[in-house]
Amino acid sequence: MVQKKLVVLGGGESGIGAAILGKLKGFDVFLSDRSPIIEKYREVLLRENISFEEGLHTDSLILGADEVVKSPGIPDKAPIIVALVSKGIPVISEIEFASRYTDAKLIAVTGSNGKTTTSLLTYHLLKEAGLNVGLAGNIGESFAWQVAEKNFDYYVLEISSFQLDNSFDFHPSVAVLLNITPDHLDRYDYNFQNYVDSKFRIVQKQTADDNFIYFADSDVISLELTKRAIPSKKWGISLDESLPQGGFYQGHKLVSIKDDFTYEQSFSELPIKGPHNAVNALASILVAQCVGLTADVIKTGLISFKNAPHRLEQVAVLDGVTYVNDSKATNVDSVFYALGSFQQPIVLIAGGVDKGNDYGQIEELVRQKVKALIILTPKFEKLKEYFGEIVPEIYVTEDIQDAVNKAKMLSNPGDIVLLSPACASFDLFKNYEDRGDKFRQAVINLAD
Ligand code: ADP
Repeated sequence: MVQKKLVVLGGGESGIGAAILGKLKGFDVFLSDRSPIIEKYREVLLRENISFEEGLHTDSLILGADEVVKSPGIPDKAPIIVALVSKGIPVISEIEFASRYTDAKLIAVTGSNGKTTTSLLTYHLLKEAGLNVGLAGNIGESFAWQVAEKNFDYYVLEISSFQLDNSFDFHPSVAVLLNITPDHLDRYDYNFQNYVDSKFRIVQKQTADDNFIYFADSDVISLELTKRAIPSKKWGISLDESLPQGGFYQGHKLVSIKDDFTYEQSFSELPIKGPHNAVNALASILVAQCVGLTADVIKTGLISFKNAPHRLEQVAVLDGVTYVNDSKATNVDSVFYALGSFQQPIVLIAGGVDKGNDYGQIEELVRQKVKALIILTPKFEKLKEYFGEIVPEIYVTEDIQDAVNKAKMLSNPGDIVLLSPACASFDLFKNYEDRGDKFRQAVINLAD
């Protein structure tokens, strides 16, 4: 039998995983990365005897593929993708590829914000229940790699729109859609509807046996639900009103009703705070109910959960001022929820690489809560112009220690100093983790 030729574009975690799984499944695999491949992955390719190139894409080696797995970082407009599509060669995501080769039940979490928190929490609950569950997608080890080497009964998958774009038969038995707010529009022809359509691909293969959990307070999601015939069992989540079925917040309690199973818990018992985390927690509870976990296990898991760093992470309380690292807040919507998480006056540190931000969404909250704004970026003009008239005190710097020192001077006992930038980090930092780590260090330096 002639071996099918699989070309993998991108030699990062997901590409290497796809190459390994492709080899295991009998494909003739070739991997191509336009950039250098990092050492640990190059070693894997050599060990597994998978042919590859790095630093370029050679058309003649790629355009003969029967099928191509594309890393989510490569835009559809990249010349090599355009060439493949014009030749009619299927280009799929790693998620699509890996899901063909597993019978595990798939729980897929998407949304503009909250994916990591909800995926980690859901995984934690299922693990606490003793289920044989893996965690993959945007998080940790590649899905394809795990499908090749492990044998899980369930996967919790954190899924971005870029992975959904090239997914066709991907079929989660539980799909979670947390929210859809403008993000990554540069990859969607600056057309928000294209991005919305991408997010809804998460349910495109669902049937009446599957579950779809979504944030019902989102106007965007609600409107789409009126336009689309989605056959799945639907469970809404609302912070605004109580629902006959689904998840809601009432009298400081999380309430989640699935069929005749009503789960209730005081939100203050959870280690994660803020209204957005009530949504994330309710989504995880509903998944747990769909999977069949008991109330006791859900409760223990919610209380023992530890979130990833850089998401409203309390760093320290110094002289009565609480310092919070929300470096992962790289868009305006996440800052909206961060500001909504505190009753106290806030000294906000924000700024970085602007992705076409519209600050209208946070204007009112900033007016109410932010006593001082520290703009941390060389490109400070837009933020300064927008908030100059609104915030009593504005300070501009390119140095995070200077920002934190200034925040200390501007705050009083009981205040919050919040790093929640609304922007990407690449102007002054390697990535959002680096920004959060440096913030944490700068706060620790204050205490010394
Ligand atoms: P993602 O993986 O989608 O980027 P994270 O869980 O890492 O999401 O959270 C990123 C930031 O988004 C957090 O710092 C928080 O401020 C904000 N956020 C988290 N959950 C939500 C939500 N459900 N709705 C809106 N914003 C959220």
